[in-house]
Amino acid sequence: MFKYTKMFSTKITPQREAIPGSIQVPNSAGGYTWQLDDWARLDRFLVLGSEGGTFYVGERDLTVDNANVVRRCLVADGPRTIHRIVAISDAGRAPKNDPAIFSLAMAAKLGDEATRRAAYAALPKVCRIGTHLMHFAEYAQGFGGWGRGMRKAVGSWFNARPPADLALQLAKYQSRDGWSNRDLLRLAHPRAASPSHDRLFAWAVKGEIPDGALEDPAFALIAAMTELKHITDVAMAAQLIRERRVPRECVPTELLQHAVIWDALLGAMPMTALIRNLATMTRVGLLAPGSAGTKRVAAMLQDRERLTKARVHPIGVLAALMTYKAGRGVRGSGTWEPVASIVDALDVAFYASFKAIVPAGKRMLLALDVSGSMASGAVAGVPNLTPRIASAAMALVTAATERDHAFVAFTSAPGGYGGQWGGGQSGITSLSISPRQRLDDVVSDVGKLPMGGTDCALPMIWAQKHRVDVDTFCVYTDNETWAGSVHPAQALRAYRDARGISAKLVVVGMTSTGFSIADPNDAGMLDVVGFDTSTPPVIADFARV
Ligand code: CA
Repeated sequence: MFKYTKMFSTKITPQREAIPGSIQVPNSAGGYTWQLDDWARLDRFLVLGSEGGTFYVGERDLTVDNANVVRRCLVADGPRTIHRIVAISDAGRAPKNDPAIFSLAMAAKLGDEATRRAAYAALPKVCRIGTHLMHFAEYAQGFGGWGRGMRKAVGSWFNARPPADLALQLAKYQSRDGWSNRDLLRLAHPRAASPSHDRLFAWAVKGEIPDGALEDPAFALIAAMTELKHITDVAMAAQLIRERRVPRECVPTELLQHAVIWDALLGAMPMTALIRNLATMTRVGLLAPGSAGTKRVAAMLQDRERLTKARVHPIGVLAALMTYKAGRGVRGSGTWEPVASIVDALDVAFYASFKAIVPAGKRMLLALDVSGSMASGAVAGVPNLTPRIASAAMALVTAATERDHAFVAFTSAPGGYGGQWGGGQSGITSLSISPRQRLDDVVSDVGKLPMGGTDCALPMIWAQKHRVDVDTFCVYTDNETWAGSVHPAQALRAYRDARGISAKLVVVGMTSTGFSIADPNDAGMLDVVGFDTSTPPVIADFARV
């Protein structure tokens, strides 16, 4: 008998060929995977962005590719696109707001009439602070000029704020990335909503406090900011900062050398600013082992409600932890002695900044793709945060809630220098990482694993061979699989048959490409987006039913 099915079968197909009868497409690595639809891709882009590119695709091409996805979504259904942009941005699900702002600018400039109107109406929800608005102006400029809709929307952005809040925005974010409030107000030219607005606009445009404005309570912050420029007594400056809740951006640089000033700033400091300034606060001595400042900051960092309200993203916390622990800045901006209890608090903050998870109570195999391509690129543009490290951190969140879990890392032997040389024949390495370890230790453990080619079917093949019972496989990958002799979806079906378990597969996509190893026609397979704060609860919900 000639073995026809050895060469053509729907059950065993090499990854370098499409499964017969399927609608698989080639991925960037020469393997065949499924193509995500544009709505799923829109989600990936809004959460992961395209900054830094991937191992296979440069930053520019990945951006063009994703922008075309946004464009197609806008053509297909503009209001639905805007709804997605708002949902992901407003819930703080993405590490960076820029992809949402960029997509909203595209909608405002390229959408049809109804889409444009909806985009401008959504402006305050997506652009919540001055910096966001300046980024919107910059992105919108790439697609057109300042029409009537744009002028009106930007004008209302300023006018709709109560005077005290407007003063804060104008004082705190005076200019960013080539744009200033002065530029925006001149171009939008809004008619002031109140006399206070009028005075504040005048101050932002001319840089001088209008006559009589100091009697206006809306000018309390701006008056304090002006006073601070002339105060030489540090204690007096600290008192003024505390009383008027002055943000760091409005304090002269010389004053920022003093611990008492930072102590005063803490009272009104937003969580994101707190997380970004830990090194500075350590350098000036506010944060020291056992100090009152350390206790206060550590408590703030672990406050789930504060983290949620401020939309602190776990990626931001992870990046802060990696930098702070290192004791020196990425761009060589000085050194400091990291305080252990602050590092511990950041570790707690990382888990607390995800959406709450109800455990599924299932047997889970958390499988990390540690192939060569996963060590390239930077998640959300954070230096040194590769998809491989990010996926380990992401998997820890599920591990922290699911008692019955195991970790494996996989990389295939052929075409790489890992596999049989680095970690056993099958290319599967059992990982002894745990959420009880501190994140920075996990990061360094995962960083040291051997790399090689990519075969995303390995976790299922391994579990079948070793008779490991798994209800849900979670594979963290860039979906650039190519090296295996069977597709991951086929390996999952073979596993189900062999073990008699209706096992599921969750594919956690760590890059914003359009590929997936999950078969869209199999209800037991699901695509989710890596580093979306709502991904761990989604995984649990999918695994539970
Ligand atoms: Ca790879």
